[in-house]
Amino acid sequence: MTKDQLSKEDLNSEESVDGKSSQDKPLDEKTTEDFAKYFQTTYQPPNINKARKRFREDIEVHYDFEIPEDMRNVGRDKKFLIQTYGCQMNEHDTEVMAGIFQEMGYEVTVEKEEADVILLNTCAIRENAENKVFGEIGHLKALKRENPDLIIGVCGCMSQQETVVNRIMQKHQHVDLIFGTHNIHRLPVLIKEAMFSKAQVVEVWSKEGDIYENLPKARAGKIKAWVNIMYGCDKFCTFCIVPMTRGKQRSRRPEDIIQEVRHLAAQGYKEVTLLGQNVNAYGKDFEDIDYKFGDLLNDLHKIDIPRIRFTSPHPRDFDDHCIEVMSKGGNLLNHIHMPVQSGNSEILRRMNRKYTREEYLELVRKIKEAIPNVTLTTDIIVGFPNETEEQFQDTLSLVEEVGFEAAYTFIYSPREGTPDAAREDNVPLEEKRERLARLNELINKQSAEAMKSYEGKTVKVLVEGESKRDPDILSGYTEKNKVVNFKGPKSIVGEIVDVKITESRTWSLNGELVSSEVGVK
Ligand code: SAM
Ligand code: SF4
Repeated sequence: MTKDQLSKEDLNSEESVDGKSSQDKPLDEKTTEDFAKYFQTTYQPPNINKARKRFREDIEVHYDFEIPEDMRNVGRDKKFLIQTYGCQMNEHDTEVMAGIFQEMGYEVTVEKEEADVILLNTCAIRENAENKVFGEIGHLKALKRENPDLIIGVCGCMSQQETVVNRIMQKHQHVDLIFGTHNIHRLPVLIKEAMFSKAQVVEVWSKEGDIYENLPKARAGKIKAWVNIMYGCDKFCTFCIVPMTRGKQRSRRPEDIIQEVRHLAAQGYKEVTLLGQNVNAYGKDFEDIDYKFGDLLNDLHKIDIPRIRFTSPHPRDFDDHCIEVMSKGGNLLNHIHMPVQSGNSEILRRMNRKYTREEYLELVRKIKEAIPNVTLTTDIIVGFPNETEEQFQDTLSLVEEVGFEAAYTFIYSPREGTPDAAREDNVPLEEKRERLARLNELINKQSAEAMKSYEGKTVKVLVEGESKRDPDILSGYTEKNKVVNFKGPKSIVGEIVDVKITESRTWSLNGELVSSEVGVK
């Protein structure tokens, strides 16, 4: 273990300045000096060379998480609020942290003014995500002034970056606690330290990451659930900060995942989304068993839960076995979100994506052949450094050729610590914006056409609740993840029902209820 991977035991093992081990003292008697070493807990800046050398360390799976006895009731009559930024992985981490807070006796709140702890669970993927968080940190200062006992914490991917941590430490002294993505299981201890210390508590392990199996989870709903199947990423796309902020790839043991999905099915959940930064590289890190993503899908296919999705697969890891298993259908839905990033082979090479345009198209051909009526959606980056108009045109033509029905589209955002960040770039921002607008126009057109094809058809909709705009209207998702709005009784929330589509919009469908499992009067 290196200095920047201090464990609780390490933190408590040194003598304090008064000669008494700080471990011997109750927390409320500790002085700032006793805590000083906690604040030296360091972190490493993202470093691609170092990150690439990490493959030899063993991954430990821990099944022994428990809230320390003295923290079990610390949240009684107190409230917590977690603001989540970024991807589904972060949303799920928030569910885990919420579970830990609840086991410490805290109650959830959505009102900042009544919160005793506010955590910002942050995203580092693009600069604008970071700017939003810094804006929010600034806003929280007034709240801290009014309520000095309020604990403000910053966690998630931004905390894994040295520049971010430095900036918070220097300019935002009202933040009490900063911890990283590998430190979530330490939340009770960190809250305790933040409660009693007079200085900022910083704990960001740059370690490659273990797996903590039995962390509590306060899931956000009772219909759909996230299930992490792997953590981290070893792909090292040259634009992406994730391999640095989330550590090396490590897959959960199949039996733990299968048990979690079975448990969710038994609790009445209707849909699970398998999560991973590179979800279909699942199992490639196992040394003792030959069990890959296709094997996992095959086992989950047998579980009595109506819908299984996953996000996001990498084209390079989409093997024939996985396609064959998906072609069995059933709860394995015929919608695949498969990020392409660019339609030009030279840009893909510079991105280190490890496939060409032709290979991506061949994969799409195989998928379409094996899974009839499949819907494909994707992620695309425009304005990658020095992308030419012709290279961008290749992206447009690939979007048309594949027929993506939706896409998350982004302007390239340089991320410190990634190989591309230092690259010269001759594409002006205006040009990038204009390319993004053209791309979005094409995607919108394709989405609208796909939606139009549903008119008059009957689709299966998992009803999630009232529509945000109109409480008299119910809203849900089709197997292909299209939003459908329709009138129906509230009693069918959580059920899968048949809805006949009467009208299509670019991003949603309107329809009429045909039938439901629970019956409609
Ligand atoms: N693992 C997935 C894959 O292989 O494509 C993607 C996960 S990443 C968290 C989500 C998306 O963010 C990526 O697909 C990419 O389009 C976008 N993204 C990542 N880094 C970016 C950057 N530096 N600038 C703009 N978009 C970025
Ligand atoms: Fe980032 Fe995805 Fe590439 Fe991993 S595979 S480096 S998460 S874009």
